[in-house]
Amino acid sequence: MKAGGLSLHAKVLIGLVLGAVAGLSAQAAFGPGDPQVKWWVDQIAKPVGNVFLNLIFMVVVPLLFSALVLGVSDLGDGRKLGRIGVRSLMLTVVLSGIAVVIGLIAVNAVKPGAGITPEDRDRLIASYGDTKKGDELVAKSKEAKSVGDTLVEIIPRNPLESAVKALDGGLIAFMFFALIFGVALSTVEAEKALPVKQFLEGLLAVAMKIIDYAMRFAPIGVFALVFGTTAILGMNALVALGKYAGLVLLALSFHLIVVYSAALKLVAKRNPLEFFRSIKGVMLTSFATSSSNATLPYALRSAEEDLGLPREISNFVLTVGATANQNGTALFEGITVIFLAQVFGIQLDLGQQLTVMGLSIVAGIGTAGVPGGSWPYIAIILATIGVPPTAIGLCIGIDRILDMSRTVLNVTGDMTIAACVAQLEGTPFEHPAEATG
Ligand code: ASP
Repeated sequence: MKAGGLSLHAKVLIGLVLGAVAGLSAQAAFGPGDPQVKWWVDQIAKPVGNVFLNLIFMVVVPLLFSALVLGVSDLGDGRKLGRIGVRSLMLTVVLSGIAVVIGLIAVNAVKPGAGITPEDRDRLIASYGDTKKGDELVAKSKEAKSVGDTLVEIIPRNPLESAVKALDGGLIAFMFFALIFGVALSTVEAEKALPVKQFLEGLLAVAMKIIDYAMRFAPIGVFALVFGTTAILGMNALVALGKYAGLVLLALSFHLIVVYSAALKLVAKRNPLEFFRSIKGVMLTSFATSSSNATLPYALRSAEEDLGLPREISNFVLTVGATANQNGTALFEGITVIFLAQVFGIQLDLGQQLTVMGLSIVAGIGTAGVPGGSWPYIAIILATIGVPPTAIGLCIGIDRILDMSRTVLNVTGDMTIAACVAQLEGTPFEHPAEATG
């Protein structure tokens, strides 16, 4: 999409850079915690950033419903759906497992939290930690239910209620409803199914259009979001937590470049470079929005148009994957939990590290694809291994940039799995450029 000479992607990047420069300059000129800067952040930057995100979130429910129902009903027979589901799940677990192992090896080798003295720790939590948000998340994590209850609640008693709570943990149950709806739709008589499908096709197109409108606002939205983070925290916080943040970014890059490339080459039989180039718009959108769910419409379109993936496969894998396949999140959660244990001087034995690994994989599947979706799970894992969950206040301050980065991995992982499943299903995609050239 081009507007005014520059592509939208270029404008988003400019918004990002200008936001960071403006934020750091404000922080350098006025100092951290300056009331005037805080006023600008709270009254202007945060609302503007949230307008951008809300414009996208308001269509997540209709978008998800229409895309998933159409995807499932297009797949038609139950066996094919089951096979694709199982293959996607296996790939998710394997890729998430590798991601967490990479994170754990990195954080144990570098030990970014070990050098922080208890005084430093308290000072950091007091000056940079968002303890209010930390407390809220801790309270939420205490509401955690038993495994049995969680499984039962995947089947919603009232799907409308799940839709209402979609961005607060109701998404999985709502997706379950859409899944059953799609399966049933594929089995009713064609003349009855047709109007429902046509309506859903229309709904999907409208939802995509609204996201297009919202994305026009992305350069300003991203400017505001990044300004809000950097003006309040500035360079000092970034330096203090730099090792941790750097490690997360490095491990994420490693997973993207090495592991995804290997999966693409070996399983999807694709040239990884070509693949990443084709989906760069999707990657940038995930970076700008920090949300897998908000990126979904672009991912769906790009899978069809740029990668030539069969729609029924990409609709299903990408829609479910936007919530259920989050490698970046799993990796991030592993590193963050061990980092905070190091900060608090808590030694974890192998068994505990394996617990962290298992919980991070599961958390990657359960985390909502919204900005900051990881945090309730991190609080739960911390509590499980005996680290005070309020410690998350330490990391939340610098989370925006890490959130943007892990979301890129989450979404790229969904596209990678869709490509792998398409190949395994015997429907290798034809790159549009290759097809014509
Ligand atoms: N922001 C991430 C996503 O939407 C979730 C998270 O890790 O917080 O994919």
